[in-house]
Amino acid sequence: MQPDSNSDHASQKNTQAQSEITNPRTITADGSRRRLLTGGFSRRSFLGRAGVLTATATGVAAGVMSPLVSSKIRGNVAQAHNAQNAQNVAAGGKSSQVLQEVLSANQRYVETFGDKANLTIPPARRFAVLTCMDARLDPAKFAGLAEGDAHVIRNAGGRVSDDAIRSLVISYKLLGTKEWFVIHHTNCGMEFFTDDIIRNLLANSLTTAVLNSDGTFTDVGPARTGSTEGDYINWLTIANQEESVARDVRRIRFHPLVPDEIPIYGYIYDVKTGKLNEVPKATQIGRATL
Ligand SMILES: [Zn+2]
Repeated sequence: MQPDSNSDHASQKNTQAQSEITNPRTITADGSRRRLLTGGFSRRSFLGRAGVLTATATGVAAGVMSPLVSSKIRGNVAQAHNAQNAQNVAAGGKSSQVLQEVLSANQRYVETFGDKANLTIPPARRFAVLTCMDARLDPAKFAGLAEGDAHVIRNAGGRVSDDAIRSLVISYKLLGTKEWFVIHHTNCGMEFFTDDIIRNLLANSLTTAVLNSDGTFTDVGPARTGSTEGDYINWLTIANQEESVARDVRRIRFHPLVPDEIPIYGYIYDVKTGKLNEVPKATQIGRATL
């Protein structure tokens, strides 16, 4: 928690979900506000281990899987998918280590799936988290989530896009969540380019581009024809983390499809410590008014 928290938003802090998501185990010894931008980014830090920014995109609102599917059926389905995937790989003349690793891990998961087959669609702890797809962030770990606990909505930057709104509205309207978190993070890749930059990169080529130490990008690999379709996308890049959290919380707070009684908490996850640092201004904007 930040020392400059005011009384209004402090009154919002005592809910169960918020106290649990700001896991005390992650609080640093000095409790001080961390510098939000670490700077000194490198090609490695931007592209990550997989070498492609978008390779680890995961996230959609969890919990839309039918609770009626038994663990046995799930196991059979997984085995069928494994076999089909193996055929697909063979047919394409390719092999993928990642594919095999994922399928092997899934097989182990299925074998120990246990009573999770009995989980219901509505999240048990009645809250939702909107955060970035960055591979370094694991909401299940940094927020203490188990399967069935909460909705986790992820996209590039954790921004409140129209599609994020869509998921949040379904989250409360049909699945009963009562508190929401918007969590951006330090050293986010969305800070390192603008709409113009990515549009120009895409218009030039569809090959992967790496970030240079001077902040420019260079395409790597074989040249491929580009497309100007990127001109029509709002990429929702980030210039200032605290401001982006506040703006996103504001958009949710004043959205006509969002009821006033849902509090929205604004945080920035520090990739160097694992700590969630509150953005008091955002939480103030997002306070419930009923
Ligand atoms: Zn990010």
